Amino acid sequence: MPSPLPPRDAHAHVLTGIAPSELLALNAVIFAVTREPSEWRAALARQDPTTVWGIGAHPGVTSALQAFDPDVFAATLAQATLVGEVGLDGRTRTSAAQQRTVFEAVLRRTAADPRPVSVHSAAATKAVLDAMERNPQPGIILHWWRGSRAETARAIEYGCWFSLNGSEAGDPKVLDQLPPERVLTETDFPHTRRQDRRAAKPGAVVTIEAALHECGTSTIGGSQAGVAQPPLASRGNRPASADAARNPATDARDRPLSRQPFALLSLNDVVVCGPRQQVRQLL
Ligand SMILES: [Zn+2]
Repeated sequence: MPSPLPPRDAHAHVLTGIAPSELLALNAVIFAVTREPSEWRAALARQDPTTVWGIGAHPGVTSALQAFDPDVFAATLAQATLVGEVGLDGRTRTSAAQQRTVFEAVLRRTAADPRPVSVHSAAATKAVLDAMERNPQPGIILHWWRGSRAETARAIEYGCWFSLNGSEAGDPKVLDQLPPERVLTETDFPHTRRQDRRAAKPGAVVTIEAALHECGTSTIGGSQAGVAQPPLASRGNRPASADAARNPATDARDRPLSRQPFALLSLNDVVVCGPRQQVRQLL
């Protein structure tokens, strides 16, 4: 049965000047991350009904790390729904010390004022976990996670969400280890196009959706209530307000994972009804 819900892309790169009609034409709920503080103002000024814009400072971008100011971040966070892309990267030439300073400053702030935080951890999975554990908080979404099994167990224990893309589908590392209710789908558009030709635009999560369905059908069906929990609500004190969370549709097991009721929650509550207030309420 075709799903009435749009796919969800929990991590994609979109230019902040994109025409609103182009985003709407994607027919997907997009978490659009930014790389540099210089993008934040334009991102937050947008009013896209199905796109949530994040504020980020990418660890691989020197100018982003240099421009990061913790006070400006704290002030901007008050206006923001989502934080990302932030994190650590062990493969780039940017200063490791500067990466750590920025990431710790971000985590300190979001620990005090939680948001969904899309975290980059390429070749730095242990260091990212260490930093997170120094700043415990709900809402961490590990993007394109490639940690070891022991590290993944640590991240699950911490309460992380995981956004997986077509690269994980082609070369699975953690797919079979993750609780289905903690998994989100993403494209990291445009960076996964080489590994996943079908990720040709934001929201094109069909490859990872298929892999999740294949490896976890029985698990997903068997833990339907868990899947139906909106991820960002599960660690908060407040109950989820969406009917979809309380009354999962009976055909939930037939839906691709990225279109499970959280997508409905994203679309109706988080995005359409006012992202900032709703997401904060969920945390
Ligand atoms: Zn990215």
